[in-house]
Amino acid sequence: MTWEPVIGLEVHVHLKTRTKMFCRCPVRYGAAGNTQTCPVCLALPGALPVVNRKAVEWTLKLGLALGCEIAEHAVFSRKNYFYFDNPKGYQISQYDLPFCTNGKVLVPTAEGDSVVGIVRAHLEEDAAKTVHVGGRTGRIRGADYSLVDFNRAGTPLVEIVTAPDIGSAEEAKRFLQILRQTITELGISDAEMEKGTLRVDANVSVRPTGAKELRTRTELKNMNSFTFVARGIDAEIARQIAVWESGGTVRQETYDFDAATGALTPHRAKEEADDYRYLPEPDLVPIEPPAELVERLRSELPELPAARIRRLQGELELERATVLVTGGLDSLWQNAVAAGAEKIAAANVIANNVVGAGLDRSAVSAKELARLVEARERIPRAAFDEAISKLAEPGFSADPYLAQEALSDERALDPIVARVLEASPGQVEAYRNGKDGLLGFFVGQVMKETQGNANPRIVSELVRTRLKSR
Ligand SMILES: [Zn+2]
Repeated sequence: MTWEPVIGLEVHVHLKTRTKMFCRCPVRYGAAGNTQTCPVCLALPGALPVVNRKAVEWTLKLGLALGCEIAEHAVFSRKNYFYFDNPKGYQISQYDLPFCTNGKVLVPTAEGDSVVGIVRAHLEEDAAKTVHVGGRTGRIRGADYSLVDFNRAGTPLVEIVTAPDIGSAEEAKRFLQILRQTITELGISDAEMEKGTLRVDANVSVRPTGAKELRTRTELKNMNSFTFVARGIDAEIARQIAVWESGGTVRQETYDFDAATGALTPHRAKEEADDYRYLPEPDLVPIEPPAELVERLRSELPELPAARIRRLQGELELERATVLVTGGLDSLWQNAVAAGAEKIAAANVIANNVVGAGLDRSAVSAKELARLVEARERIPRAAFDEAISKLAEPGFSADPYLAQEALSDERALDPIVARVLEASPGQVEAYRNGKDGLLGFFVGQVMKETQGNANPRIVSELVRTRLKSR
């Protein structure tokens, strides 16, 4: 029997509004603990919330970008729970009448677009940040004491819930990359997992391939990069298949994924959803977004990442198109191509060299980049690398680098090629037995011998000729 995964995601995104969701405290990361607070976000008696208009507009804008319907009548609700990160005893969230519902995101794949449904996107406030001190795990169990920082309390948070439409860990990762790029391009959040401004939980179940049933799902938490999300999902899929195949039953549980060991450890027994006793927030009136506002926000949407990936797919491989778009590099590529660079070579140089050099992309001159792409085989590798590393410097010109010539003289290069081949008899043997990939190894050795000055195209021709002629 074969199995198919059924995956849904819950994504929390901190909005980067100037002030908090229901008070005027600044949203500021890295400030000293408990300095960005007021009676509202500390829940002192009698303090009343006031809605942050910007946070509502940004939520609507994100909903539109995710293809959602915008509610004509939306309501904030109290989600009741008792924990020390939340002095009110409830979180202001949305329950049955959220701002955004019923959307979809197209995820371009090699087999065509796959569609991920968006069940809802709603707006809520974050809780305070807790730090557990002492103990080995950084969790509350075994800690000596816990600290609470209310700077984060009341920060606007959008929760996006997908339908269980995602069929693999790889697709989940791709969806998240597209979602994050969409969010950052809307300018509403930095959406950085390392900073905690984007958090992902995954709901995972498996079922016999082709079945329509939904089996018991588990929830994965505490994964701090998209790669770890994908690895955690893969580990959980394997665990569940093993449970079903050994005659057991998957139980509804929450797991933490430890990226270092690859282990899944139980988080805590999941509370029943109706334990939260949602009720409409009596201190806030319902919000009815005017049609003109919704239309204005819709008209402000840029061409979205999924659409751009699809547009580039005609000219580049899907992988390359995805890397460029989700890295925010596709406009640089387009400008370099417009300045005369060959399409595929420009995409390769941007994805490998420009990204590798960690440049400020917005400062890179597309015209100088295009010149370097065209000259990349003619000039010495070392000069090329140095020029790329300086591309973002103000007033950068490729001229001094383009004036250098890579060593292309076959009579000078051939003895070096001969030496390299002589020094690696094992690899030569393997290459002759069909391991074509070793060509790159030989070229690399010659490049090393010449301090990166040789023309790699001519070197590889020389290597091929020598290994053919014996
Ligand atoms: Zn406050």
